[in-house]
Amino acid sequence: MAGIVRNWTEPRVNFQLGWEILRFGSGWYIGKAQYQLTEDAGAGANEMKVFSTGMKQRIRKMLLLCVRKQVILTFDDGPHLSYTPLILDVLRHHRINAIFFVLGERMQIRGARELIQRASAEGHLIGNHGFSHVDMRKLSRDQIRSELLRTRELIAEFEPRRPLFRPPYGAYNSDVVEIAKELGYEMLLWNVDPQDWNPKRKPTGWIDAAIDQMRARRRSICICHDSQGTTAEGLDQLVTRVRAASRFDFVRYAI
Ligand SMILES: [Zn+2]
Repeated sequence: MAGIVRNWTEPRVNFQLGWEILRFGSGWYIGKAQYQLTEDAGAGANEMKVFSTGMKQRIRKMLLLCVRKQVILTFDDGPHLSYTPLILDVLRHHRINAIFFVLGERMQIRGARELIQRASAEGHLIGNHGFSHVDMRKLSRDQIRSELLRTRELIAEFEPRRPLFRPPYGAYNSDVVEIAKELGYEMLLWNVDPQDWNPKRKPTGWIDAAIDQMRARRRSICICHDSQGTTAEGLDQLVTRVRAASRFDFVRYAI
């Protein structure tokens, strides 16, 4: 994005003014801009382009240091009889409300329903992650609908008024979007992916990755998996480190 400064007469000059109020897109920023004459300034020949390559990012980084950042934690692929309770304990201890995107097939396991009942009672949101964790782009419309409805049958009593859906692998096409909408679902993906499932990020590499990504965002929706033992074990460390980094708030997703 570039702004135009007019009435500059000296050609081929790079320069930097002091602090300025700059406008980029719809936002106003305080920062220092690099200016340079454009080669093709045209008949006026007095036009300057504000080169903002990299600058917007620098300004954004600077602003991010000043504002409070929001973090929403989400846990997919559960419930898991051992790990989900550990995660619930950590969240309760730290008074954090998260979202659990559960799989229908895992809800059928004995004891799973009680776990999700507990999660719901403790203020967490329960979302639909389909029934069998398939890539829904490979399914027919009927199969997509069935994936959602079979899971809904098992979690309906825990679903919020505006129910949430996250497709497995974040994979969707227009059929998935349409059917989810038909069934009243809001599709919620993520913007922080620490890959807690990835052996290379275990046991704690995923925590560093999560924090790195959160620092670069005003509002993070972080995908974790309560199907992973190392996630259950490391969650307390993640929360403690994020809180220690200051200017982060764990927030409940507003529905
Ligand atoms: Zn998943």
